[in-house]
Amino acid sequence: MNSIKQNLVQIKSTIPEQVTLVAVSKTKPVSDLMQAYESGQRIFGENKIQEMADKWEEMPKDIQWHMIGHVQSNKVKFMAPFVSLIHGVDSLKLLQEINKQALKNNRIIDCLLQIYIAEEETKFGLDENELNELLSSSELKELKNIRILGLMGMATFTDNQNQIKKEFTDLKSIFDSIQTIKNENCKLSTISMGMSGDYQLAIECGSTMVRIGSSIFGGR
Ligand SMILES: *Cc1c(COP(=O)(O)O)cnc(C)c1O
Repeated sequence: MNSIKQNLVQIKSTIPEQVTLVAVSKTKPVSDLMQAYESGQRIFGENKIQEMADKWEEMPKDIQWHMIGHVQSNKVKFMAPFVSLIHGVDSLKLLQEINKQALKNNRIIDCLLQIYIAEEETKFGLDENELNELLSSSELKELKNIRILGLMGMATFTDNQNQIKKEFTDLKSIFDSIQTIKNENCKLSTISMGMSGDYQLAIECGSTMVRIGSSIFGGR
């Protein structure tokens, strides 16, 4: 089996320089994360707020922590002091809570809006109409302590490459369609799409940020 360091080197060699690599370290021990850190990785993704907060306390402070899982409003306060990007935001109510906690911490917190692109029933996210409604709402404009950096999506879990490609292409075209938005708190530059099994296809379809776990750290 390859080491974490070898996996990282291999994956980085297949990712263009302008694409950001989020090393998804959920369920993995700090010792594994430290191996990635020592080979230069500084961006880690977690899907549970408590686990991310524990790792943040233990690990070097120049790490950027990304929350990639579904976020419950009542737990935002536990990550508000340090989280660098929240990928899975899918409601105005959640944005309002993030804004409130960011203000308490005297910060601006970067967020991505999660878009529903898969055919599966279990995935969270907004559809295109809900996205447009949210982006044009007057309530959003009042949130001075959040910044929306772009969109995040997860493709259907399937071997059908054509379907995955269609879903990624849909997300890219939704992203392109919102470029005219002129809100102060929107700096739309990021499309977070692609995981271990589909990140190369995602990059071909316009991804600027890939979230890779098992290909770096091994199976969970
Ligand atoms: C776990 C997870 C990943 C990483 O998945 P791998 O297949 O291990 O690369 C990416 N994105 C989200 C939202 C996840 O929950």
